[in-house]
Amino acid sequence: MKLPLIYLVSPCYNEEDALPITSKAFADKINSLINSKKIAAESKILFVDDGSSDDTWNIIKNLNCKNPKTFEGVKLSKNRGHQNALLAGLMAAKEKCDAVISLDADLQDDINAIDEMIEKFKNGAQIVYGVRSDRQNDTIFKKSTALIFYKFLESLGVESVRNHADFRLTSRSVLNDLENFNEVNLYMRAIFPQIGYKQEIVYYSRQLRDAGESKYPFNKMLGLAIDGVTSFSVKPLRVITTLGLAIIVASIVVTLYLLYVKLSGGTPQGLSFIAISIWLLGGVQMCSIGIVGEYIGKIYMETKARPRYIIEETV
Ligand code: UDP
Ligand code: MG
Repeated sequence: MKLPLIYLVSPCYNEEDALPITSKAFADKINSLINSKKIAAESKILFVDDGSSDDTWNIIKNLNCKNPKTFEGVKLSKNRGHQNALLAGLMAAKEKCDAVISLDADLQDDINAIDEMIEKFKNGAQIVYGVRSDRQNDTIFKKSTALIFYKFLESLGVESVRNHADFRLTSRSVLNDLENFNEVNLYMRAIFPQIGYKQEIVYYSRQLRDAGESKYPFNKMLGLAIDGVTSFSVKPLRVITTLGLAIIVASIVVTLYLLYVKLSGGTPQGLSFIAISIWLLGGVQMCSIGIVGEYIGKIYMETKARPRYIIEETV
């Protein structure tokens, strides 16, 4: 059987500290797989520089200069965020290989899981998800927010693989299908389950970041989570309708009560009740408009269909 040609694709944003270590680890992995005749000798590593402001691109160019058989690079014209950078890498590698494995540039994704991914690919899987077997290395905050987010997504009916980030193997044909998903608000983790074909899981233990700092501060994480929800579910809009109906029912009950008090000769009291109602309803309405606005904002961005990334240079 012909050996599969594999590309490792890794997005990098200001990774000058991590890249020297990562590139060596990736190259060792690729070479050992080539030597043990598990993958084709032309298999490579592609780094995407996501508009870094540090020395990342120079390091990538140097790697390519010294070892063009192993390293390639794509430089985006500016920082477009992890999902767009990864997409740029997947699309750049797609025509040259049988399957791509995407992974972070900080060695948090265990490269030893790659062997099993390739085994599963050879046995017919078109997508192999790397799934974390534990969250020991996470802070309590990250652990609990992640769990809440997965539960929330599931309750909204969004198909996604729990504890899977973007460490995954995807076959060339899956990437051809991915190209037809033109959304600007990209949340790839939930797109792949929709593509279908034979999908498998490989468990791995996530390491601590090798060098440098996390490039995913809380606001970027929240943005990704909102994209995940609004790109795949309209249930929040239905929740607003249900909430509106519930408030109408409640107001009918209160009206009947006040009518009863009046008819039985009393005087309805309730200045504080009125004040609370105004604040409550004001808040509910503003939140609802905000949720609707979030979707309108998404529609606005999608109708423009601007390019998701611009490639400045390739080596
Ligand atoms: N990354 C990127 N563009 C960004 C932010 C991050 O390409 O705007 C890359 C980053 O270089 C790394 C991967 O995405 O390879 C995951 O980021 P990071 O390790 O900082 O996230 P964390 O593991 O802390 O969630
Ligand atoms: Mg990381």
